[in-house]
Amino acid sequence: MLYAENLSVNQSNHLTIGRHDAVALARRFGTPLYVLDEDRMRLNCRRYRQTLAGAYPGEGLVLYASKALCTLHTARVAAEEGLGADAVSGGEIYTLLKAGFPMEKVFFHGNNKTPEEIALAMDSGVGYFVVDNREELRRINDLAGQRGRIQPILFRVKPGVDCHTHEYIKTGQIDSKFGVALETGEALEIHREAASLPHVRVEGVHCHIGSQIFETEPFCEAVRRMTGLMAQLKSELGMDTRILNLGGGFGIPYEPGDDPPPLAHYLRSVTSVLRQETERLGLPLPQLCFEPGRALVGDAGVTLYTVGSVKTIPGVRTYVAVDGGMADNPRYILYGAKHPALVANRAGDAPEGPVTIAGKCCESGDLIAEHTPLQAVYPGDILAVLVTGAYNYSMASNYNRLPRPAMVALQGEEARLIVRRETYEDLISHDVL
Ligand SMILES: *Cc1c(COP(=O)(O)O)cnc(C)c1O
Repeated sequence: MLYAENLSVNQSNHLTIGRHDAVALARRFGTPLYVLDEDRMRLNCRRYRQTLAGAYPGEGLVLYASKALCTLHTARVAAEEGLGADAVSGGEIYTLLKAGFPMEKVFFHGNNKTPEEIALAMDSGVGYFVVDNREELRRINDLAGQRGRIQPILFRVKPGVDCHTHEYIKTGQIDSKFGVALETGEALEIHREAASLPHVRVEGVHCHIGSQIFETEPFCEAVRRMTGLMAQLKSELGMDTRILNLGGGFGIPYEPGDDPPPLAHYLRSVTSVLRQETERLGLPLPQLCFEPGRALVGDAGVTLYTVGSVKTIPGVRTYVAVDGGMADNPRYILYGAKHPALVANRAGDAPEGPVTIAGKCCESGDLIAEHTPLQAVYPGDILAVLVTGAYNYSMASNYNRLPRPAMVALQGEEARLIVRRETYEDLISHDVL
């Protein structure tokens, strides 16, 4: 086992992903290549659902955070696994709709939904809007009014919980562009306004404190604060909120030494605090929603590259240049995120001295990893970067006019193209002369 249960090494000393030889995949589909182990994604979805069902006596719903990896195929897999989804833009909603997703199980997020996106979501039958601010609340009320309906909503609340993760992926504190603050009374006030509007109905409350969080306590603290708000809404506004949506953010291991708590431990801690608090406050058990993204697809993804050159600068470092980089995986340049890597055609060999894996974009910061141990590596080798299922393809760009890679889904013995490789023609297809 290498890093994850679904990775191994075969008799040719090649990396295997599920039942597939990574080098053969690279030959067949070309590089750079996103590989999605669909069996792994499905297993992650099932584990999340089953663990939640086992830990919580009330109703639970797992929502796939589309932004982690949004394609027609992944939307369909999430739907087949019985998940709902969260979406943050018209484009994600459109993708879910075209995939045949059950739109009544979609929660529409985002801190600046445009009127066009709101209209698209309403006309697509999106179940819930997670409302960010006052202007948006009024817009939603107006647009629902024009359609003669009452739109179920929840507010995005900043519970004021700090968590230990990268600044750019913290979202639960007062200084965040997302949502309304609990401490300042802003949350109560916006609920009061919502209660006075005829075309929205508050169904629950939502918070998302950040991403890649390894501790359970910040989530437990969020539960205490959010149930406190639910009780306050009941006592001060007579408002019954039946949904508690705690967002995503459950961390996953990216490198050796990363040690997030087991999912069961995390969900048991959170649900036991929820049971205590609802009992203490005299509230019924809410429908409990989670919105994992990374935890469902992160370790289902591997990116395969071809090594073009190996450049050793004596006394400084060795650069291993691959045929992709920040355009297909901007996580290092964005957050200094770490991904393990190995030489797929020498996967069972012991790693040697540390190298820096560089992309091919015209930025010195275009790196995939620094000071990372790697097997002996030569031009023409296939380099596998692991745990790239989340926030890689979905954050990809065409910087330097690099066509976006293809993606293949592995299911059992089958490898099927689910996103075709972009062509140069695709790159100029929107240009107008
Ligand atoms: C990003 C995000 C998620 C998913 O976060 P993960 O860390 O991938 O689990 C869920 N909900 C909201 C509102 C988000 O912004």
